[in-house]
Amino acid sequence: MFIDLDRFKHINDSLGHDVGDGLLQEVAGRLSNNLRASDTVARIGGDEFVILLSHADEPEAYAALAQKLMTALAEPMRIAGHAIQVGASVGIACFPEDGAGVVALMKHADAAMYAAKSAGRGTYRFFQAAMTEKAEQRLRLEMELRRAAKNGELKLFYQPRVALVGGTVVGLEALVRWRHPQHGLVLPADFIPLAEETGIIGELGDWVLEEACRQSRDWRLRGLATRIAVNVSAKQLQSGNLAERIAELARQYGTAPADLEIELTESVIMANPEQVSGTFAELRRQGVSVAVDDFGTGYSSLAYLRRLPLDVLKIDRSFVSNADRDEGDGEIVRTIVALGQALGLSVVAEGVETESQAAFLRACGCPAGQGYLYSRPQPAAAIEDWLRAQPGMDNPGAMKCVTA
Ligand SMILES: [Mg+2]
Repeated sequence: MFIDLDRFKHINDSLGHDVGDGLLQEVAGRLSNNLRASDTVARIGGDEFVILLSHADEPEAYAALAQKLMTALAEPMRIAGHAIQVGASVGIACFPEDGAGVVALMKHADAAMYAAKSAGRGTYRFFQAAMTEKAEQRLRLEMELRRAAKNGELKLFYQPRVALVGGTVVGLEALVRWRHPQHGLVLPADFIPLAEETGIIGELGDWVLEEACRQSRDWRLRGLATRIAVNVSAKQLQSGNLAERIAELARQYGTAPADLEIELTESVIMANPEQVSGTFAELRRQGVSVAVDDFGTGYSSLAYLRRLPLDVLKIDRSFVSNADRDEGDGEIVRTIVALGQALGLSVVAEGVETESQAAFLRACGCPAGQGYLYSRPQPAAAIEDWLRAQPGMDNPGAMKCVTA
């Protein structure tokens, strides 16, 4: 059995390695407690455990054991004062039908584990021949992704953020795209999770920051001054030098820090609010603003929301999409807007697609929106044309860095 903890990297990145190590010890203990003395359990790296069951059983017995282990791991843990809950995905390969030797059995249990992960985590799978091909595809994609930045295959697209009353552009969000030499344009949903799991996200996120700084300076020189919001990962935040890195890039490219905004998801921020607070304060001291992304999907502490140095709340698209038709979603949007106002934060609605949604948001007093109704994300040159075609933009210098 190949066991991989779900979202272990996230815990490690957000709560620190000490907590991660404590978690691994607790997991090892729980696994051993649920096995027979004749079974072997080993940690073979990172958050991966392998169990060797030397007494042959019926497949049903393995399935029941996998379920028992997952249930044992899912019980809440208390580590260094943190309440943590962790899930696991399990892959099972049987001798001799799934492999005659150690290498083949391990490889196939690993492939089954990945199948369990992509089936939605917290589940187990038995090995099937078709899984090897999938695992190889994944490995290939990982190698290609590692080279993507160096090969110039990554591109930034930009999506405008618009004042809901008056329609002025108040900023742009930089969104990464991968132009794969064979597969064409790959969307973030198809490679960001892989980048996060493999740690490539650190390098990739840094490339995005650098490119946004370069582009910002380039536009400012040509009379287009606008704020660019950049999505930052837990890994970059965890590196501990995000603020210094941004200051360094701003100096190197001559970017005005006030032209930059950092977007972090609510769940990343709230996973460790004490730790992010110092970084946010430093960023704001430099003039960079801070936005809470996907707001409403995580678990925010209102106390931290009030105390943390923040500038913007971005209402998650899942609430915006039905806000004008569903009473519950509408009420949530109204409440987030009121919360933002009470805390002195700007609010941006994500995923605005229809005029009716925009009208609802205006009626709530939401100051800004972003979505297909205004523009889809576009490459730099196209968004520049789009910006210059906006009313009042005949004098390009007129575009101001407006706070929504
Ligand atoms: Mg974002």
